[in-house]
This record gives sequence, structure tokens and C-alpha cells, in this order.
Amino acid sequence: MGEHAVVLGCSVGGLLAARVLADHFDDVTVIERDTLPDGVAQRRGVPQGRHVHGLLASGAQALDDLFPGFLDDLVDDGAVVLDGSGVSRVSMTFAGHPLNLNGPFTRPITSYLATRPFLEAHVRQRVRAISNVEILDGHDAVEFIVAGAGRVTGVRVAAHDGSSNREVVADLVVDATGRAARTPAFLESVGYRRPIEHRNTIHVAYTSQLLHIPPDAIVERLFLIGARPELLCGGALFACENDTWMLTLVGMTGLQPPVDREGMLRFAEKFAPAAMMTALRAAAPLTEPVTYRYPASVRRFYERLSQFPTGLLVFGDAICSFNPVYGQGMSVAALEALALRDCLNDGPHELARRFFRAAAKPLGRAWQMASGADLTLPDVEGHRSPFIRFTNRYTERVLTAAESDGAVAETFLRVTNLVDAPSELLRPSIVARVMAAAGHRGPAGSTPHARVPAQPA
Ligand SMILES: Cc1cc2nc3c(=O)[nH]c(=O)nc-3n(C[C@H](O)[C@H](O)[C@H](O)COP(=O)(O)OP(=O)(O)OC[C@H]3O[C@@H](n4cnc5c(N)ncnc54)[C@H](O)[C@@H]3O)c2cc1C
Repeated sequence: MGEHAVVLGCSVGGLLAARVLADHFDDVTVIERDTLPDGVAQRRGVPQGRHVHGLLASGAQALDDLFPGFLDDLVDDGAVVLDGSGVSRVSMTFAGHPLNLNGPFTRPITSYLATRPFLEAHVRQRVRAISNVEILDGHDAVEFIVAGAGRVTGVRVAAHDGSSNREVVADLVVDATGRAARTPAFLESVGYRRPIEHRNTIHVAYTSQLLHIPPDAIVERLFLIGARPELLCGGALFACENDTWMLTLVGMTGLQPPVDREGMLRFAEKFAPAAMMTALRAAAPLTEPVTYRYPASVRRFYERLSQFPTGLLVFGDAICSFNPVYGQGMSVAALEALALRDCLNDGPHELARRFFRAAAKPLGRAWQMASGADLTLPDVEGHRSPFIRFTNRYTERVLTAAESDGAVAETFLRVTNLVDAPSELLRPSIVARVMAAAGHRGPAGSTPHARVPAQPA
């Protein structure tokens, strides 16, 4: 494809883009503003690293495809694995509906639990081992270099400490600098249209803390409780590496979870099952509570642009930044990497147009599910199309059925893990089960704390 590709941003998105570019360019340089740690550590450019980070089953599989043996390495180093047998150690409640996860599932959905720095460090370690990839950390990407208006030929970078400033020439530049990426402004500055942007204003607020929980105080490995229109809060408690637990409390549409222990416990009592509360009361904090505010999910429709400079791509959160409560961002980035790999395999012709279209498939599915769920909450600003209204009504019925019907719960989980397409929920056999369950149960939330009996994995 060319001699040199440059990736801007060395978080999960940039690392995965670099992985596939390395098969098609002589050299790949990844430019990162932060000075990167050697191992597992928090860093400034990824403040979300202090909060719960779920890896969906689709993302886990994509990572293993990109880096063979990756998932085994995660587990060897201490990540928690939930395979088909362990799924009963999972308690999930969506929109007030506790899912029946007793199984057995016909096709196991395997999940891996770890902290975000642990996951990122493992991806970074794999990319560092690729001989033609260089990571230039401690450097800011300042601006694109253009030849005329039609081609990006590199990027100007400046050492973060101000000691140097230089041009890096490239055949391809990939912007993976996250949701604040400057490509839309750059496009406008050189006479192109900005991509259309869809935005759901959700004002999500997190409070998170790493905990130690005595083993006899908890059987489950994961609790996940989503918000619902009548109760705009939820949370997650995930087992992580080295016998640690990540607690994240979530407030929607402006509700800020507290940061003191008593307040956090009182907040959790509003939605948490009894077993989660027992674990939280027995827990000892390992870090101070930290907060994060996420104003709006944003999707930029690059695939709809009729003109785009050659030599430039956009990747990861820079295309679409999802409401974090659905845990989609890293997995969508991994699916985008597979899409980029396919596009590169087909040659350089109209690479940007083909990549944006290919990336829009997994990304569009994830966006549709996340924004549909967000728009069930009355205070969320966004466009409630007839299609969204229909799917939300049907999803409510699916969730009602999933409380008792394991087959419906399994299909729902496969769809939300981006393993199967949402159309799987409209298969005649599933529709029949959903309809059979309708009317057998009271309104959503009537049994909010019913939970799945835990079984040993
Ligand atoms: C609170 C929160 C919770 C989340 N939870 C989950 C979850 O449970 N599961 C999940 O899959 N995803 C989750 N996500 C999303 C996930 O973190 C991202 O999707 C993932 O990190 C991929 O993003 P990215 O690499 O495209 O961008 P980012 O992670 O934002 O990284 C951008 C990188 O670019 C660097 N950078 C920025 N500007 C420059 C510049 N000018 N020059 C050089 N470098 C630059 C930054 O330092 C950073 O390293 C969550 C996000 C948030 C905010």
C-alpha cells in the first residue's frame, strides 16, 4: 500500500489500526501525546481507564483474531473469564428486567473481565512486538500536512515538552485521537464538508472505585444494572485481575452519583440486588472514588461524504463515541480493525470510501442499539424516529420474555454483544416466545431485584 502509515493516538483504537496497517505498509508510526507506561498503569489521555470497561464477546473474538492467543494471555495474566458455565455467575438487569441467565446456552458467549489499563497494556504489548511499528509517545499531532486540497501527505508533530517540532511524511494518516478529533475542523479548513453529526445528549455521570471484596462475600463475577425511565441510575460491579473489583455507579440525564462511601452505598441500594449490596458492604476500597461526566454520544457519518481527501482515515471514537454504559467502544474499534484489514486486502483504490462504509456496519448496529435504549429515557434529547419507537416497544417485550425464557435471554445477549445482528430478535421462533411471554408478567420493574440463582462455574 505504501512506505509509511502514521496513526494519531495510541489508545485501543490507534493500536488496533496500527496492527492491521503493519501488514500493508513498510513502516507504521503511532504518535501519542502521553508518555506511555511500560506495563499496566493509568494515564492522562485515557481518563475513562479508572471506570468499568466491559469487553463484549464480539470484541474479544476480534482481538484474538488480530493477535492470536491474546485471550489466553489475558487469562494467564489474571483476567476473569466467564464462559458458558460461568454465565450463571452473572446478574444482569436491563430496563428493570432481570435476565434469566441460568442457561445452558446453546452457543456459549465467552466474556473476559479486567480493568481498562490491563486490557490496553496487553494490546500495546502485542503492537510493540510488531517489528515495523514504532510508537512515538510524548508527542502531539499538531496538524495535517496537505498537498493541495486533495491529499494528506503527513502530519506535523511537536514533542510534548516543547523540545522539538517536525514533519512526519506518510502515505496514509489515520486519526484515532478520540471523540475530540480535529478531522471535521480540518476538512472544513481545506474546503470539504464536515461529516453530518448525530448527537444524543444523555449527561451520563460515573463514580467508580477499585475494591477488594472478601471471597466469601460474593459468588457472582459480574453485576450489571441499567437505568430505566422510572429510575435514572444503575451500576456495575465487575471482577477484575488480581482479585480486584471495579465498581461503577451511573447516573443518567444529569444525576451525579456521590463520592463518599455512605453516599455510594445509599445510591447503590436504589437498584442493586441484595447479593451486590452484601458484597459492597464487605468491600475495602483500593483507590479513591473518581468521577467522569459524559455529555453526549456522537456519531459522525463519514460514510455519507461524497468527497474526502486521499491519504486520510478516521478510526474508533473519532468516528463514533458511544454512551459508555453499553460497553461498546473498544469492541467496535476491534470490529473496525477487521473491516480495515478487509479493505486493505482489496487494495488502495478509494480506501476511505470503502473503509467508512465497511466500518459503518458494526458501528451502525451498536449505535442503533445504544441510542434506541437511551431514547427510552424521557429526558434524553435526540430524534425519536418511528423506527426507534417501534424497536423500543418490541425490546421492552423481548426483555419481559427474557426474564423467564432463557432462549430469548441468550439471543438478546448475543445481539447486545454484537455477535448476532438485531434481526435475530425478529426470527419467528423468538417472536413466538416473546409474544407468549407478553401478558404473563406485570409492567417493567415489578420484580427489579429478582435475581438469577448463582451456580458454581
Ligand atoms: C467513562 C467511559 C467508560 C467506557 N467504558 C467502556 C466499556 O465498558 N467498554 C468499551 O468497550 N468501551 C468503553 N468506553 C469507550 C472506550 O474507552 C473507547 O472506545 C476506546 O478507548 C477506543 O477509543 P479510541 O482509541 O478511539 O480513543 P481514546 O481512547 O479516546 O484515545 C485517544 C488517544 O489519542 C491521544 N491523543 C489525543 N489527541 C492527540 C494528539 N493531538 N496527538 C497525539 N495523541 C493524541 C490520547 O492521549 C489517547 O491516547 C468507555 C468510555 C468512557 C468515556
